Amino acid sequence: QNPLLTIKHLSVQFKVHGGIVQAVRDLNLTIEKGKTLAIVGESGCGKSVTCHAVMGLIQKPSGFIPQGEIIFDGLDITQLEKNNTIRGNRIAMIFQDPMTALNPTLTIGEQMIEGVMKHKKLSKQHALDKASEMLTLVGIAEPEKRLSQYPHQFSGGMRQRIVIAMALMSDPDLLIADEPTTALDVTIQAQVLELFEKIQQQTGVSIILITHDLGVVAKIADTIAVMYAGQCIETGNRRDIFYHPQHPYTQGLLASIPRLDMQKDSLKPIEGHPPDLFAPPKGCGFFSRCKKAMRVCKEIPPELSVLTEEHTVLCWLQDSRTQCNV
Ligand code: SF4
Ligand code: MG
Repeated sequence: QNPLLTIKHLSVQFKVHGGIVQAVRDLNLTIEKGKTLAIVGESGCGKSVTCHAVMGLIQKPSGFIPQGEIIFDGLDITQLEKNNTIRGNRIAMIFQDPMTALNPTLTIGEQMIEGVMKHKKLSKQHALDKASEMLTLVGIAEPEKRLSQYPHQFSGGMRQRIVIAMALMSDPDLLIADEPTTALDVTIQAQVLELFEKIQQQTGVSIILITHDLGVVAKIADTIAVMYAGQCIETGNRRDIFYHPQHPYTQGLLASIPRLDMQKDSLKPIEGHPPDLFAPPKGCGFFSRCKKAMRVCKEIPPELSVLTEEHTVLCWLQDSRTQCNV
């Protein structure tokens, strides 16, 4: 099967006063049709920037892509503008805060139909029918009546559902959700994640879920990519990441997730801070925080080790060349 999206050796940089920030460095990712990929990491690790690159939202001249390819369904979209038809119709993004995604001065109906009337040339009636259908799919009752209401007439959880319904209006092949549940309380978080699963079953859409919380993705991700300091340091399926994590950072993240069988005070956050992306370290990016660091780690960047077809790790511990000289 051909993957829906392949990212190869992608780097994204930003020119800022005083230098260049290396926000994403040599990133490789794939997402299969109809599957969910979770991108996990601390804020500033490059996960949102990666998705902005997929959406065509890296703004020149301050932001640029010095190397790499983004291949969507066989097409190289790396340098395409965000308003081309692929990005308008086939890739949709849900931003973190539903209130900023919704216009308070327009009815839900008006904002839901705007995009498809423009991009898909649907008539107003067709577009409204489609909007009702999508509101029903995300679990909002009496959709016809709701379409004439304004954002403030809905609760926070309902607004997030509306934003999801809006993203589905163009029947996208890929839905990118950036921290879609961060602003919501735990019960509603769970409902939104179930909603993603239901939507995927019914529409076959592929989903990229961005989150800082590894716990959130435990149930719904088919594959997980862990990012640190602009790099993807481990990828794998759920079993690989939750039961056989190999990178010390992934292991640290797991130890910091609250679990039912653990005392609250046994949670161990990872000490220290991520490196400065103005001047990323010469060797491994995690070196300053790694309890298993070796001499080689400080000077020479680790190469990707492929453990199985799905499980890859960027760490010297997995490199056969280090076995005898630690
Ligand atoms: Fe730790 Fe070295 Fe692996 Fe980096 S390469 S995570 S410093 S063991
Ligand atoms: Mg972010």
